[in-house]
Amino acid sequence: MDTLKHFTLASITLLASTPPKLLSGPLSATFASASGFPELQFFLQPDGQPSLNFDLRITQLFRLGEFQSLCVSESSETIKEKTYSKGITIQFKEEEESSSFHGAFDLWKSEVIIQGSTLPNGTITKSKFDDKIESSSAKMYFHYYGQLLHQQNMLQDYVRTGSYYAAVMENQADFTGRVVVDVGAGSGILSLFAAQAGAKHVYAVEASEMADYAQKLIAGNPILGQRITVIKGKVEEVELPEKADILISEPMGTLLVNERMLESYVIARDRFLIPNGKMFPTVGRIHMAPFSDEYLYVEIANKSLFWQQQNYYGVDLTALHGTAFQGYFSQPVVDAFDPRLLVAPAASHVINFTTIKEEDLYEIDIPLKFTASVGTRIHGLACWFDVLFNGSTVQRWLTTAPGAPTTHWYQLRCVLSQPIYVMPGQEITGHLHMIAHSAQSYTINLTMSAKMWGPGAEQGGILQTSSCRLDLKEPYYRMSQPQAYSVAQDQQPNQLLQSQDLQLPSLDEDGLDFIQQPLSKFVDPT
Ligand code: SAH
Repeated sequence: MDTLKHFTLASITLLASTPPKLLSGPLSATFASASGFPELQFFLQPDGQPSLNFDLRITQLFRLGEFQSLCVSESSETIKEKTYSKGITIQFKEEEESSSFHGAFDLWKSEVIIQGSTLPNGTITKSKFDDKIESSSAKMYFHYYGQLLHQQNMLQDYVRTGSYYAAVMENQADFTGRVVVDVGAGSGILSLFAAQAGAKHVYAVEASEMADYAQKLIAGNPILGQRITVIKGKVEEVELPEKADILISEPMGTLLVNERMLESYVIARDRFLIPNGKMFPTVGRIHMAPFSDEYLYVEIANKSLFWQQQNYYGVDLTALHGTAFQGYFSQPVVDAFDPRLLVAPAASHVINFTTIKEEDLYEIDIPLKFTASVGTRIHGLACWFDVLFNGSTVQRWLTTAPGAPTTHWYQLRCVLSQPIYVMPGQEITGHLHMIAHSAQSYTINLTMSAKMWGPGAEQGGILQTSSCRLDLKEPYYRMSQPQAYSVAQDQQPNQLLQSQDLQLPSLDEDGLDFIQQPLSKFVDPT
């Protein structure tokens, strides 16, 4: 917006003076937001300093005629008992100038609403987001989400969007008559679902340019849209006029935590949610199990073979072979795999969105302990996640597990450059250690070890340890093969997979006894 445009005025009449005082021009006015909120400034003195300011959050403009307008405002002085209005009439020289002044006023005023600073006492809080995240990363990130095609991609993940729709509609009691905040609203779809479920009002907060499209979509659904306000800005920064009874959001990235949006979800909870308010989703779990996939391992190892050529147009490439080899093994693999590749029952790590502290997401260390079901070569750790909508009527899970209907998240596998050998019943231990970085992702350190099995076992020495460091920001999307596996293709759902939902040892401690319910929609535990 052009902050420098000055509008020329013929005269101004100050209505608060008795009798009203006429100031003859030429005078000028402009719009600015230097004080942290949008203002209409009038220049009444020849010194070029604005001498009459109107806070746009509390100002209205009326057209009295072709050349004349009325501008009134509540007092912006915050003395409790004094709530008088100030008012002026503005006389323009030309009708064109009057129109463009009104146009600019409307634009700046809509900016106020869209920025969420409608509160007279609205202040912009210092952003945690900017402290943590590199601006270049944030720029690319919000540019990505500002494009409709990426929102469409998520909307067309029917497992995802359908689960949200079902979770909201099955739990209308949690929405009817309630104030809802949609954290990272994107196209606004979840806000529209919440409005369908009877929300009293929904604040759809979206930082990217998608906010403008969300506004359009919502305006195109006026019956629902009249109960939705789009607020363009980061949840870390915007102000809302009231607290929310329930938050709805889709903050999950690859491996649940990629994109670091869970932190924004938690910040939104602390800023906007009433005590004991609801969160949809409520809980997330990362599931992990060792896998054996010779085909994948060879595929990755072979990628660096190129660098073993000693005569590439007369150049010996082998000096870079080691670097290339390490490089390929530092990419987590994203694809849908057959759950029969898992070689031990999965373990899980619970993240309770209603209680976790934001800082606890900066570093996540998960100790691993598995028992191999078969003798095999283990090529790494397979991971996926699910989230729970803990509605008061229905508890619904959205899962991204292998063997369940595939989502746009697929699954993630960390591949070890050095596989480890195990015998049936053998224990595999290790750590999955994830450290958040300023490019909105995580560095993953995986270590897996298998103790000696057989005659030497009494000595208890660790025979093999293998580790790898991966950047979650740089995955290898491997969608071409194998084909996404679905339970329908194989009527014998994998036994190992079922067990992940049956063993939930640590949940009671968290007071999450509701998770003891049967969890999985896609496998029949019988
Ligand atoms: N809720 C939509 C979009 C989910 S994608 C849906 O379910 O289809 C996540 C959205 O959150 C993106 O549009 C992204 O721009 C937005 N977002 C991420 N971090 C944010 C933040 N800190 N503040 C506001 N919006 C954010």
